[in-house]
Amino acid sequence: AKTHARGNYRYYSPRLTKENERRQQILSTLPAAIRNNYFRLVYQPRVSGGHPSHVHSMEALLRWQDPVMGIVSPGEFIPIAEQTALISDIGYWVLEEVFAMMAHSQHQLPDNLSISINLSPKQLEDLHLVATITGLLGQYGVRASQFELEITEYSISSESEAMMDNMRALSNMGFKFALDDFGTGYSNLGILQSLPLNVLKVDITFIRAIGTSIKSDELVRAILKMGHTLGLRVVAEGVESAEQVVFLSALDCEELQGYYFFKPKPIEELLERFKRA
Ligand code: C2E
Ligand code: CA
Ligand code: CA
Ligand code: CA
Repeated sequence: AKTHARGNYRYYSPRLTKENERRQQILSTLPAAIRNNYFRLVYQPRVSGGHPSHVHSMEALLRWQDPVMGIVSPGEFIPIAEQTALISDIGYWVLEEVFAMMAHSQHQLPDNLSISINLSPKQLEDLHLVATITGLLGQYGVRASQFELEITEYSISSESEAMMDNMRALSNMGFKFALDDFGTGYSNLGILQSLPLNVLKVDITFIRAIGTSIKSDELVRAILKMGHTLGLRVVAEGVESAEQVVFLSALDCEELQGYYFFKPKPIEELLERFKRA
């Protein structure tokens, strides 16, 4: 369709209009979803030594089940929420929910289990972040060292003083930091070295490419080498096959995460498993 708008001819593709409608629908439904608590968390274990009973940590992943919209994936609604102030409410809901889970289920979880929480770039720049988290830790009686914060590579901006201050403060409090989706952003090695990082998470696209060409195998090898050179633990995400497990284990990849071992599950189901293990 061709529309006359402000003296310019603009083409509106049906696909873009659909996307925009969907976006608007998500934006208008999110506030009620937050109010009515249509969210829940699932947890995906990370295993070490390629063994499903060696669970050292679990990642909290957000789920939105809406009575009207149905199930909306975080891959779809988080980027939309990130463009608004809603991400702040969602982010604090997640932090509080994880801390509450830890306070409630600690005695049933493996010793020293660490929980990873995804932080959006906006959250990481929030001037109230440290004070709010400090308050929540006290409220639930949990320790910072029990948690790891996952930030994506593209969200890092060394120019953002608020972000750097928050990271330093949280790290000093005992939180660990993981760099998520590694290999998809543009961070240079200098930045990587200057951040208080503990973990590098190799993006799923690299893991998927294992065994497809010599080049992609070499790339994974190089990323692992780099992580280890920087003194970081390396975690592979999206591990789905035995071939990937063998390849990554031979490279001393510290932790593996993916459907091959565990799909993300409600905490009750995981607690049942730990009881039996
Ligand atoms: P992410 O942090 O990179 O999370 C990994 C995604 O890969 C998750 O999708 C997970 O369910 C999925 N996954 C795990 N193992 C496999 C596998 O073996 N194969 C495949 N194909 N996928 C696997 P999910 O849960 O849909 O989350 C998508 C993204 O949404 C996350 O990517 C993260 O960026 C964002 N997200 C999820 N929860 C939160 C949250 O609480 N806060 C923030 N800020 N973002 C979140
Ligand atoms: Ca993540
Ligand atoms: Ca990731
Ligand atoms: Ca991702």
